[in-house]
Amino acid sequence: SYRLESWMKGSHETLISAEQISERVVELGAQIRADHGDEEITLIGVLKGSILFMADLARAIPGDVQLEFLGVSSYMGTKSTGQVRITHDLSADITGRNIVLVEDIVDTGLTLKFLIRTLNQRNPKSLRVVTLLDKPAHRSNQVQVDYVGFKIPDAFVIGYGLDLDQRYRNLPSIEVFTPVTD
Ligand code: 5GP
Repeated sequence: SYRLESWMKGSHETLISAEQISERVVELGAQIRADHGDEEITLIGVLKGSILFMADLARAIPGDVQLEFLGVSSYMGTKSTGQVRITHDLSADITGRNIVLVEDIVDTGLTLKFLIRTLNQRNPKSLRVVTLLDKPAHRSNQVQVDYVGFKIPDAFVIGYGLDLDQRYRNLPSIEVFTPVTD
């Protein structure tokens, strides 16, 4: 653990390095392709947290891949509000498509439960879920996740797309964040 730069307001410690992430992403991409044969895959990234993961994952899946984005708002600061709403909808009709929903982290499962219900209403051919991080400690909504990058302990993590009040998404590794109060 070390002191953050002056623009940061806490301490952080690497949980998953950039190298570990890139190795795992390659494995996930190969597995996702294998499970879909040579069929077209539409990745749906959940904004904003999953975009770094999505960008790397897309490059790890060979063949026919399309990218879509869905914005949801469900989390404020370090505490879940328990509310999910769409802030940015898909730009395409997903009827009959093979969907892989790309999440950054599944915590309580509330967001994912909402997204699975919402996407299934649009009649895709298939719907699978990949999450970079699985934090099962506070899972109150039972959701099926097909692919998990890393299972993590009960901690607030930042980096590789994950934020604290919109900051730190640009860190290349996953870090456990501990606020510092002077
Ligand atoms: P859930 O609905 O499963 O409780 O929470 C999912 C969302 O909460 C994630 O997409 C993410 O935006 C946010 N979230 C949950 N845990 C963490 C965390 O440890 N760090 C960050 N930065 N966001 C989290």
